[in-house]
Amino acid sequence: MGLFSGKKGLVLGVANDYSIAWAISQKLLAEGADIGFTHLPGEKMERRVRKLTDPINAKLVTPCDVQKDDDVARVFKEAGEVFGSLDFVLHSIAFAPLDDIRCNFVDCSRDGFLPAMEVSCWSFIRMARLAEPLMKDGGALFCMTYYGAHMVVEHYNMMGPVKAALESATRYMAAELGEKGIRVHAISPGPLKTRAASGIGSFDELLRKAEEKAPMNRLVSIDDVGLATAYLATDAARLITGETLYIDGGYHIID
Ligand code: NAD
Repeated sequence: MGLFSGKKGLVLGVANDYSIAWAISQKLLAEGADIGFTHLPGEKMERRVRKLTDPINAKLVTPCDVQKDDDVARVFKEAGEVFGSLDFVLHSIAFAPLDDIRCNFVDCSRDGFLPAMEVSCWSFIRMARLAEPLMKDGGALFCMTYYGAHMVVEHYNMMGPVKAALESATRYMAAELGEKGIRVHAISPGPLKTRAASGIGSFDELLRKAEEKAPMNRLVSIDDVGLATAYLATDAARLITGETLYIDGGYHIID
């Protein structure tokens, strides 16, 4: 019997085996969880994700573009049909048009900012609404954030305010859903070389600084993020909600 035997979850945001969502899923799967996955629509994305999910015989692998309301609603309907109920949902999704993240913050366009907010923040709020009826015995909702929500991080630009909104939404959702036994957390890892991170300018410099400044003097791995997130999903964390959990070797406490 694993820690998550009999628990069912939905993971949105696996693109490949470098994805943070995949590392978290592996920790949950290793402890017996049953997980459904989504991928961006398109054959190429499906092939990449199925390469990971076929060997584990995932019961649900389905396309989802969170900018399409019908997609998101269908995914939760399918999850209800396949699993009956849900114990956790992981939103590990972010998007910003390159031109709008690479320019000065004040130059970002409305046409860039709004979809970034919709994909990276609003979709998490919508997911909570759709997950709630499936979390009959309570559950946990997770999203992914970054230190740049709180402090100005060079090159993070527009995503800073977007992630700040996501962290705030996490607290409001935790306050409302607590009485239903649903906990909500934002996970805040240090920089990790993933597909999403490739959009951020001078990322190697960010990695160098993270390693140098963090009290633990080492970079975080996706495995570290998986372990800490899995802990928050366990019953041991049943009275912890509304947190932004930093997994950054202590970077955020240092001036
Ligand atoms: P990733 O590229 O592996 O994951 C990003 C995911 O977002 C992909 O699976 C992509 O398909 C999905 N996505 C983008 N637009 C979408 C849409 N419209 N509909 C559905 N899915 C969409 O990169 P990652 O680093 O694992 O990113 C996961 C999360 O972690 C993001 O929220 C990111 O901001 C956050 N994060 C990353 C780092 C880092 O350094 N990599 C640090 C802190 C937080």
